[in-house]
Amino acid sequence: MLYHERRFGTATARIHVSKVEPLGIDCPHVCRLCWRAPCIAACPIGALQKDERTGAVLLGVEECIGCSACVDACPFGMAALHPESGLALICDLCGGDPACVKRCATGAIAYEETGAAAQAKRDRLVARAHQEALNAGGEG
Ligand code: SF4
Ligand code: SF4
Repeated sequence: MLYHERRFGTATARIHVSKVEPLGIDCPHVCRLCWRAPCIAACPIGALQKDERTGAVLLGVEECIGCSACVDACPFGMAALHPESGLALICDLCGGDPACVKRCATGAIAYEETGAAAQAKRDRLVARAHQEALNAGGEG
């Protein structure tokens, strides 16, 4: 969005948000950085490549013909076509420093190594279970 386009706009964003108005929920969706990326496999001319450093999918702007095969192939709805250029829109992690993470006012999204993120999740689960056990003990 801002990083690539120098303007804000949902139509050109590489991150997407589902809004569930009745519940007041906004749910962000991001590229899963698939190891065997269906979008790359689907491209008939090899315009998409893995960034070996970040794992992101990189678009060869000069090669892309806007056929939308990558859009159809992405199981998570994270590929789109640019409304003006007609070329593929896929998150490239802003080169390894995602602007969306820096701009998120509530810290709802993070950019971190998968192993560290999984460990942090496990730690949170253990801490929650510990707290629940303490609370249950206090009630008795
Ligand atoms: S839109 Fe571009 S990147 Fe996507 S499959 Fe077609 S040529 Fe490849
Ligand atoms: S755009 Fe879709 S298919 Fe491609 S790496 Fe991201 S989540 Fe996977």
